[in-house]
Amino acid sequence: MSLRIVVCVKYVPDATGDRQFADDLTTDRESVDGLLSELDEYAVEQALQIGENSDDDAEITVLTVGPEDAKDALRKALSMGADKAVHVEDDDLHGTDALGTSAVLAKAIEKTGYDLVMCGMASTDGTMGVLPALLSERLGVPQVTLLSEVSVTDGKVNGRRDGDAATEQLEASLPAVVSVTDLSGEARYPSFKGIMAAKKKPVESLDLDDLDIDADEVGLEGSWTKVDEATPRPARTAGTVVTDEGEGAKQLAEYLAGQKFI
Ligand SMILES: Cc1cc2nc3c(=O)[nH]c(=O)nc-3n(C[C@H](O)[C@H](O)[C@H](O)COP(=O)(O)OP(=O)(O)OC[C@H]3O[C@@H](n4cnc5c(N)ncnc54)[C@H](O)[C@@H]3O)c2cc1C
Repeated sequence: MSLRIVVCVKYVPDATGDRQFADDLTTDRESVDGLLSELDEYAVEQALQIGENSDDDAEITVLTVGPEDAKDALRKALSMGADKAVHVEDDDLHGTDALGTSAVLAKAIEKTGYDLVMCGMASTDGTMGVLPALLSERLGVPQVTLLSEVSVTDGKVNGRRDGDAATEQLEASLPAVVSVTDLSGEARYPSFKGIMAAKKKPVESLDLDDLDIDADEVGLEGSWTKVDEATPRPARTAGTVVTDEGEGAKQLAEYLAGQKFI
């Protein structure tokens, strides 16, 4: 019997680039480079480790909903060691919010087949951290989220969630959805062999028709949330330089008091 793991990975705009809103107040994904969301690398790593430690054969599929360039994120995950990829791409997805994205991901996960769905703790652009819970609801399976340790044994997923006040040991029967944190263990770098092997691994492309989703259920029209207004953050000012000529500490304290910091 094989253990089927689907890892949801997001292609996000590079945070070091100059990110902008497009005219329709969606994120401008055209003018900046993108990459595999760093927090999703942890999910890929944990999926690979579960596969390596499994007595059963494991098949690891990486799945993204995103534009053409999102294939780069899939290739990176494949070069880390995932077996195959699914890319959901459709012009009508432009402007889809978290609820719409979860509907599309859930249909793609069901079509792919799964025992375990793995996510990052949040994307590095939207950072809502809601997708794992939305997926669990849509798929009708348990969720075990924000794990810093995760393993699969005897048809169950086990994990540790470290909170501020307590550490919880959690368990759910498969099929299930989990998310892992950045404390779950460093993600491996793709090896040269892995990068070469990834070029030959299958990437399945799906559109909304393939998933039986109507265009009006997604996109800006189908979204439950809407951005009404966006104002660019003001440019940084030069700041105040305090030159210490014996009175530096006093001047600093006066400045902080003036700003109501102390
Ligand atoms: C082409 C495109 C256009 C979009 N336009 C808009 C828009 O105009 N307005 C808007 O509100 N939203 C838009 N979205 C959706 C948005 O970018 C997020 O995917 C969605 O809102 C989820 O929120 P989040 O990124 O905060 O995810 P989180 O809930 O923080 O993500 C948690 C985890 O879910 C998984 N995940 C999240 N997103 C994806 C994904 N796309 N594919 C695979 N796995 C994923 C990852 O494992 C991630 O670590 C668009 C998405 C795409 C692909």
